[in-house]
Amino acid sequence: MKSIKSKSIFNKTKKVIPGGVNSPVRSFAAVSSTPFIVKKSKGSLITDVDNNSYVDFIGSWGAMILGHSDRRILKKLNSVSRNGLTYGAPNEAETEMAEFIVKHISSIEKVRMVSSGTEATMSAARLARGYTKKDIIIKFNGCYHGHGDAFLVEAGSGATTFGKPSSSGVTKGSSKDTISLMYNDKNQIKKIFSKYKNKIACVIIEPIAGNMNFVRADKSFLSLVRKLCTQNNSLLIFDEVMTGFRVNFKGAQHCYNIKPDLTTFGKVIGGGLPVGAFGGKSKIMNMLAPEGPIYQAGTLSGNPLAMHCGLETLKIISKKTFFKKLSSKTKSFVDNLNNIAKKYNYAFHADSEGGMFGLYFTHDMPKNIQDIKNSNLEEFNKFFIHMLKNGVFFAPSAYEAGFMSESHTEQNLKKVYKLFEKFILNSTL
Ligand SMILES: *Cc1c(COP(=O)(O)O)cnc(C)c1O
Repeated sequence: MKSIKSKSIFNKTKKVIPGGVNSPVRSFAAVSSTPFIVKKSKGSLITDVDNNSYVDFIGSWGAMILGHSDRRILKKLNSVSRNGLTYGAPNEAETEMAEFIVKHISSIEKVRMVSSGTEATMSAARLARGYTKKDIIIKFNGCYHGHGDAFLVEAGSGATTFGKPSSSGVTKGSSKDTISLMYNDKNQIKKIFSKYKNKIACVIIEPIAGNMNFVRADKSFLSLVRKLCTQNNSLLIFDEVMTGFRVNFKGAQHCYNIKPDLTTFGKVIGGGLPVGAFGGKSKIMNMLAPEGPIYQAGTLSGNPLAMHCGLETLKIISKKTFFKKLSSKTKSFVDNLNNIAKKYNYAFHADSEGGMFGLYFTHDMPKNIQDIKNSNLEEFNKFFIHMLKNGVFFAPSAYEAGFMSESHTEQNLKKVYKLFEKFILNSTL
């Protein structure tokens, strides 16, 4: 597989963009490699500047649920762009988008659109703090909520003490009101709520985590978190930037039958354009400016192209058979991989929900970030390189989830099965 052009462009880029990328995971640093540079994409395939094609299981981190360059979306984009690109004034597509979300997501009565997942979570946290008039944010190790200062916090020295910044440039001040706990650990969250009773503004969580590989919250754990929030007048925020319209049409909250107070969206909801959203009960959302005292704004928020592309995508995936098909395709994909591993008694597991999946080089199913840290990371890196060399693109880190689109074919998946079997045979020689 040639990579002459990719290498030369990446070297050039490194001179003008920090690390050569506009978002760190793209650098392939985690797998000690350098990235290919994309020329174009269509359906399940992505093609680089050296004309290598890859079956793509990232899909812009889940956003491309229909596959790349879907003709229905491109057609829509083409036609609506003739009416203008951005106005900085209200347009009707915003209304339609909000009505659509409110109609289908039962925990949401009002919603506001933003331009990224990061903006959605930052705004939701500010809203929770303003609404409850409390300061503390509880999050969980391994969950990602974008790069807002208050979220770039890791667990402190004690399990239930305040966190410390996980990035340079985050002040102690902005991390001092965030506590980061172990995912799926009931005792820790119970302890925190009894220790900081009337000070907790919100708990933010990925109900199915997609940023420490793919890790499910236990149902009893999420129910407990819901109960503690209700009892203590703290808001529960489900960060569904990744899982929203991805694990099923109504998100992870539907899988668990738990209603959060606020939900954040991104990725799929933009249909490939930069979009985020946050919504919840009217009583809470009405606290936002201009109605209420909590400020939040955005020049490109509710951008007409993004609204139309997102809405078109949501309409397509709202058809009854869409998630049935996507889920069973993804489920059979992980089942087949599990069976291949089992046949060779190879330490590996795979799991999925809707169009999202996880691959783990472990003996047991992971429950939290520590289990992923303890997995065979070296083996994952070899797997990643093996797949890439043979034209299959998985996330370049063992800490990321995988994504299936409507466009992935049986042939695409069979290619992976064959390569996986070959990989195991080589690895266990
Ligand atoms: C991707 C992601 C974000 C951040 O979204 P951006 O659009 O990258 O800012 C936040 N939360 C979760 C769960 C995500 O997966």
